[in-house]
Amino acid sequence: MAARADTFDLAGLRLDPGEGRRLDLEVALEPLAFGEQRYAVKSATVPVRLDLSRTLGGGWSLRLRFTAGVDGPCMRCLEPAHPAFEVDSREVDQPGEVEEMASPYVHRGDLDLSRWAQDALVLAVPTQIVCREDCAGLCQVCGENLNANPHEHQRPPDPRFAKLSELRFE
Ligand SMILES: [Zn+2]
Ligand SMILES: [Zn+2]
Repeated sequence: MAARADTFDLAGLRLDPGEGRRLDLEVALEPLAFGEQRYAVKSATVPVRLDLSRTLGGGWSLRLRFTAGVDGPCMRCLEPAHPAFEVDSREVDQPGEVEEMASPYVHRGDLDLSRWAQDALVLAVPTQIVCREDCAGLCQVCGENLNANPHEHQRPPDPRFAKLSELRFE
């Protein structure tokens, strides 16, 4: 099993410019919060793949990939949902006077892996978490689950329309 790494010592790899590494690590993720709702990440730690290379200017080019499953209520029907989200995130940390690009996750050769993974997961999550793509949700009239019991309600005839239909325009 890969080592759990909340921060990763990039400088300790002692890579020369142009050199790279692929690392399989484990990261702990916090539950996702949407208003009152919380979505727990299924496992205590998630396996992540970190590809990194040392740039010519003494910086870093980084790519982080992982899949995280979460548990929580479907936002349409409120039944339990267990979606999984694919994360593929890139960061560049390039010191220099001309084209400086600073990554918020790299500090003096240390990579803040858990914060990057957490932020990247939040970005990968859609605005609505659902039990399945075509979840029909709850009936707006009676509140029943439309997946379990698909139905429509007949509107009671409106007396005003009955009156209108009696009018004659001649
Ligand atoms: Zn649903
Ligand atoms: Zn209904």
